[in-house]
Amino acid sequence: MSRNQQEFQRASLVIPGGVNSPVRAFRQVGGEPFFVAKAQGPYLFDVDSKRYIDYIGSWGPAIAGHAHPEVVAAVVRTAADGLSFGAPCPLEATLAEMICDIYPSVDLLRFVSSGTEACLSAIRLARGFTGRDRIIKYAGCYHGHADSFLVKAGSGVATLNLPNSPGVPSALAELTHTCDFNSLEQTEAILRAYPNEVAAIIVEPVAGNMNMVLPEPEFLPGLRRLADQYGALLVFDEVMTGFRVALAGAQGHYGVKPDLSTFGKVIGAGMPVGAYGGRREIMSHIAPLGPVYQAGTLSGNPVAMAAGIANLQIIQREGFFEDLSARTKALCDGLAALAQKHAVAFSTVNLGGMFGFYFRAEPAKNFTEAGDADIERFKRFFHACLKRGVYFAPSAYEAGFISSAHDTAVLEETLAICDAAFAEVSR
Ligand code: PLP
Repeated sequence: MSRNQQEFQRASLVIPGGVNSPVRAFRQVGGEPFFVAKAQGPYLFDVDSKRYIDYIGSWGPAIAGHAHPEVVAAVVRTAADGLSFGAPCPLEATLAEMICDIYPSVDLLRFVSSGTEACLSAIRLARGFTGRDRIIKYAGCYHGHADSFLVKAGSGVATLNLPNSPGVPSALAELTHTCDFNSLEQTEAILRAYPNEVAAIIVEPVAGNMNMVLPEPEFLPGLRRLADQYGALLVFDEVMTGFRVALAGAQGHYGVKPDLSTFGKVIGAGMPVGAYGGRREIMSHIAPLGPVYQAGTLSGNPVAMAAGIANLQIIQREGFFEDLSARTKALCDGLAALAQKHAVAFSTVNLGGMFGFYFRAEPAKNFTEAGDADIERFKRFFHACLKRGVYFAPSAYEAGFISSAHDTAVLEETLAICDAAFAEVSR
């Protein structure tokens, strides 16, 4: 039995499914997860000393590569002065200033410890600020695992939705309306059906939890217009896209200003950090300035702040995003050319340091289309890559992430492995 198998057996005795987050469990692709001993630059090394070129990057944070020396040095330096204070420290304002400078929509920012916490806090704030209870979200968008978000798309947009996770009270689920990504019509229908009841429209401005789906040109400006027209707040969940599709996130790239934004991943460089922020008038409703309560023992943790500051310093250097985008494009173009060579129906999408690929002729525009791909072939491709040392996300519904450590040699090695993998799955 390999060390990986031993570790999985051991973990499964004490941790549900052997993992602390379900997507790590390889349930969609089959097989068992490997266990990581070490991560460095573009690579993961498992406990059997096998090396993988990693296209997950801890699901986004590792934009400068794993264990970047500047990030590690900042963490070690800061940790030596104490791990957590339970009182404010200067690093919190430094990271907040950096984020507010880069995101003009954010006047005030509150740090939390995860993307889930950021999104649930933003929605509580939106409800507290507007005095309204309903929210609109989009099928296939993930905003963390708070009760209000674990609601599947109903059969029709006017239908009240049912919880799709046991444990979510139906009274709460009924307040969450789910529309198709890219559908302004469905969004407006809900706003019209419930005048003065919708607190917030929350969206991943580039969706990264149903593979990768770009907004159509009218979608984000249309949401801005509808939110204004119906008095709802527009919340961009930039936990994944922030500092990832561009320095100023999807809102910077598309030039649409939300009322509130949520962040995570890159701003913590792999440490547990989330944040939410936005217009001063709205953020002033958060305690202790206002009545909407939200708190956290480890919020603004000094070590996490130091890691985030170091990460943002790296990605603000001249040419960082141009270079990263060129690498992502080279990977996607290379994959598309290989698919063509092997006569496999395939398409890709990319922006900044984020990408998706589909075993279908065109990229998807929404969740239904994302599911309408050759997922059986994806699973075979995933394993064909994995056994040769390339680790893509173990689900056809996840986006991919690249880092500045994925240099030309790494990309060439990846494409050579993918060539063999396409040959295997074309049969
Ligand atoms: N929002 C988006 C867009 C995400 O992709 C995620 C996690 O992947 C979350 C929120 C939740 O973040 P976390 O897993 O840190 O709780």
